[in-house]
Amino acid sequence: MIQLIIGFLFAAIIAFAALRTRSLSRSGAWGALLVGTVIFGLGGWRWAVLLLAFFVSSSALTRMAAKRKASLNEKFDKGGQRDIGQVLANGGIASIFAGLHFFFPQTAWTWLAFSASLAAVNADTWATELGVLNPSMPRLISTWKPVERGTSGGISVYGTLAALGGAALIAILAGLVSPSVNFWMVTGIAILGGLLGSLFDSLLGATVQAIYRCPHCDKETEKHPLHTCGTQTMHVRGWKWLNNDLVNVGCALVGALIGSIL
Ligand SMILES: [Zn+2]
Repeated sequence: MIQLIIGFLFAAIIAFAALRTRSLSRSGAWGALLVGTVIFGLGGWRWAVLLLAFFVSSSALTRMAAKRKASLNEKFDKGGQRDIGQVLANGGIASIFAGLHFFFPQTAWTWLAFSASLAAVNADTWATELGVLNPSMPRLISTWKPVERGTSGGISVYGTLAALGGAALIAILAGLVSPSVNFWMVTGIAILGGLLGSLFDSLLGATVQAIYRCPHCDKETEKHPLHTCGTQTMHVRGWKWLNNDLVNVGCALVGALIGSIL
């Protein structure tokens, strides 16, 4: 009970700070309070370290990339401020494993699933923010055709290295603070889960994710129903229900599955 209260207070401080620095929208701050309370309160400090590493590093990269990205921002579903959908898409799966750890404290796989899930969403965020810096155009992961920067499913050398770095940060921390399994095993599994999770994210983005077109700007976008310019977007390809948040859930889930299976 005391750990849960401390977790709640700690999560509230982080959520409020993120709201004030505009890393999170108002709804995003409520989402962070929920995810943070579960992970800090039911998991404990080791779990909190990983969530904070994800949150701080991804928010910092988003902030740094915001100006550079301004010209192609319409390619992305949302701006720099994360809302509750994005927070739950990135942290929801990890929260489930922190909750499972509370009820099954003796098992090691909950930690591996949690670590690999956060490694996957961190890899994906880093790849998204840093991949746009790649000097040449990205290629679509499914057809290998060059596509515009920021296109869902586009991959590049910089983006892939960024994904590796994002996964490695979480994975190395997961190994260092691991409650039971040894460093190399945790780190290796979390890096693998993280990379495969972000690969899955790119595959969905290139194939079945809902992609729209803004008739006013004549640009492809993940935004729906309205584009940044206020015009209604039209569906061009992909499953209509599979938005960017659900693709991120898929990324987190693949990471968690690989972590728990291995
Ligand atoms: Zn537009």
